[in-house]
Amino acid sequence: MKIFVVNAGSSSLKYQLIDMDNEQVLAKGLCERIGVTGAISHKAADGREYKAETPMPTHSEAFEAVVYAMVNSKAKVIDSFDEIAAIGHRIVQGGAIFKGSCLVNDKVLSDISDLGAMAPLHNPAHVLAIKACIKTFGDKIPQVVVFDTSFHQTMPAKAYMYALPYEYYEKYGVRKYGAHGTSHRFVSDRVAVLENKDKKDLKIITCHLGNGCSITAIKDGKCIDTSMGFTPLDGFMMGTRSGTIDPSALTYIAEKENLSAADINNICNKKSGMLGISGVSNDNRDIAAAAESGNERAKLATDMQRYQILKFVGQYIAAMNGVDAIAFTGGIGENDPELREYVCENLAFLGVKIDKDLNKLRGKEVKISTDESGVDIFVIPTNEELAIARDTLEIVSKL
Ligand code: AMP
Repeated sequence: MKIFVVNAGSSSLKYQLIDMDNEQVLAKGLCERIGVTGAISHKAADGREYKAETPMPTHSEAFEAVVYAMVNSKAKVIDSFDEIAAIGHRIVQGGAIFKGSCLVNDKVLSDISDLGAMAPLHNPAHVLAIKACIKTFGDKIPQVVVFDTSFHQTMPAKAYMYALPYEYYEKYGVRKYGAHGTSHRFVSDRVAVLENKDKKDLKIITCHLGNGCSITAIKDGKCIDTSMGFTPLDGFMMGTRSGTIDPSALTYIAEKENLSAADINNICNKKSGMLGISGVSNDNRDIAAAAESGNERAKLATDMQRYQILKFVGQYIAAMNGVDAIAFTGGIGENDPELREYVCENLAFLGVKIDKDLNKLRGKEVKISTDESGVDIFVIPTNEELAIARDTLEIVSKL
């Protein structure tokens, strides 16, 4: 059975075609500059590629280009879209409405659209993409939506509420929703498999460290707390995002520099974090190179990032009254041995011991802690597309 996974933004559309009989990716690709010009780059699993510039005024033309790439191009992987059992869409914001993945219908579409106020860059684009999918493939292929937020819906109120006047929660739904939930779920499921234990018997901390970063505490198989908040700006410093800071610092800067709320939002989301501190880049590889050649601000950014990650891990160990396993994932989590070593060395008080050679591995699934370690430490490459495909398959198999 083949599942088509879609991750749509306002001007881009990433996709994968996964054969669920063996969970292998048959093809993956990207449509870019939708609404502006339009380009597709598509790659089959055997390395054949198809690239084209083709007008994509809307997501509908992008899907038509995908159909051509998959069915007719020199990198074709199927004979017809009839071979596709279902389509799974990644959705960024499910608010408090969506506690799990579900089939698309009119009510679901309008709820995703209404939640757009909390994810203005993402949810409206998801709705456009789903509608374009219906236009391109008709209603013969069932469509499923999988939310970045739903894994975090098990958080208790004491974790998700902000200590603001209660009316803002009631009027506007201002509370913590979290993000990267599909990744945290995928990685914590893998931890349970590698531990050969039921997830319900484990206390797990998953660290998704990429350009966006979040850390989640999972107890009894459920998320009990996560670092991202009302939006993915919260938590600790990321590529260009500030993470948590004293809100008074922002009102002070806004007054001094005569900035609007939108300006402040832009600064915190796009000009802060590793980029803001280092002044070099949002990319950890550039920052590491700059720090290596003596750039003090790059070194400071690195130190801050590691310290903030350690503190979140520490908070969640306390919140769960212990931890059995910690897993690192995401571009940084999978590829930065020094960051992992820093965190683990500072957990020596829990008996954490890692094998320095195993920790040098990059981008591979591996247990880096030794057999004597008080906590098991893993590196687990995330696979959000596969998690979306699995949910999609599970839902459509019941139809
Ligand atoms: P992501 O958003 O998960 O793609 O992660 C992007 C971040 O991962 C960037 O800061 C990259 O510098 C970092 N990253 C990706 N690959 C590597 C690598 N091989 N070594 C170090 N950092 C990496």
